[in-house]
Amino acid sequence: MSLPSFQLLRPKTLDEATALMAKYDGQVKVVAGGTDLLPSMKQKLFTPPYVLDLRGVSELRGIRRRAGEDVEIGALTSLAAVEHSPLIRKDFPVLYEAVKTVASPVLRNMGTIGGNLCLDTRCLWYNQSLLWRKSCGFCLKKDGDLCHVAPGGKFCWAAFSGDTPPALLCLGAEIEITGPAGTRRTSLSEFYVNDGIARLNLAPSEIVTRVYLPDSSAGWRGSYQKLRVRGSIDYPLAGVAVALKMRAGRVEDARVAITAVNPAPFLVKDADAHLVGVVPNDEIAERIGDLAASTAKPLTTSALTPEYRREMVRVFAKRAVMAAAN
Ligand SMILES: Cc1cc2nc3c(=O)[nH]c(=O)nc-3n(C[C@H](O)[C@H](O)[C@H](O)COP(=O)(O)OP(=O)(O)OC[C@H]3O[C@@H](n4cnc5c(N)ncnc54)[C@H](O)[C@@H]3O)c2cc1C
Ligand code: SF4
Repeated sequence: MSLPSFQLLRPKTLDEATALMAKYDGQVKVVAGGTDLLPSMKQKLFTPPYVLDLRGVSELRGIRRRAGEDVEIGALTSLAAVEHSPLIRKDFPVLYEAVKTVASPVLRNMGTIGGNLCLDTRCLWYNQSLLWRKSCGFCLKKDGDLCHVAPGGKFCWAAFSGDTPPALLCLGAEIEITGPAGTRRTSLSEFYVNDGIARLNLAPSEIVTRVYLPDSSAGWRGSYQKLRVRGSIDYPLAGVAVALKMRAGRVEDARVAITAVNPAPFLVKDADAHLVGVVPNDEIAERIGDLAASTAKPLTTSALTPEYRREMVRVFAKRAVMAAAN
């Protein structure tokens, strides 16, 4: 379980980082906090000749708000800084609720919001040592030509297992991406690809640089509910985020998103049609639970059964609607 050898690149500015990404296009992996990448490198899931350490690029750190504008979070901002930001806690409670469930305090000190957005997908057959994978047989996602989870197909069902993306989807967040071809801004929902291998709309030479929370989502109430094996330190095996814009006890706008039960995190379609204009009650929360459960397509990519994970999506969606409303 030692790290494979690689050359470390340590840029001090974003321009320097972009130039290095272009120079070593396709041969370099970005590392931010390293809490996900380094264990994966020890398992030989990635053996890049170059690793570009973003931590010297201080312009990518911090949370900023200018009056009337979107809130900007630098991709290198630690999850702990997001968790402890009074601004996030007060105005974007669904993000606060999600970020404080990531891993453990120590990992949140190292892990970054950019790394959380760009997490690799996870599967029982993939997140294992080289020895384990070799003895059980490689799979489509790495070195093999079949899927152990759905053997007849040519599709990878590994689950996206990050906690902050469903909260950010509920807030209508956008991200900024920088690469050799320039800088672009895209909605977070367009960033994810529902395929365990392709996973992100991000070229190998591109870096996620900033996250933007729309000013119009400030003040929405929120709740995040998560299923994991160890309550103190685990990736989600199912997660539901709900954000509600409330006025005089009624819902004025609503978004619901799920994670860890598909290769991408998803907004639940038409959830707003059931919620807008109503005072949430158990019956409506139940309908949202049904919608969320029908959006979830977990397979046997984890130790918990797909049936249980889907059922927990239903339960969590109901609970999250009522918690956010109240
Ligand atoms: C024991 C354990 C438990 C964990 N539990 C959870 C959990 O409950 N919930 C959860 O969401 N995560 C969990 N994680 C994963 C991880 O700690 C977090 O997701 C963290 O936010 C990752 O951020 P990082 O900066 O450490 O990413 P890194 O490990 O540095 O990078 C992760 C991936 O993103 C890429 N990347 C990083 N930054 C950028 C960028 N700016 N632009 C482009 N690509 C980038 C890297 O190349 C890599 O592929 C856990 C990890 C461990 C070891
Ligand atoms: S879902 Fe299939 S292809 Fe994807 S990681 Fe798991 S076993 Fe491999």
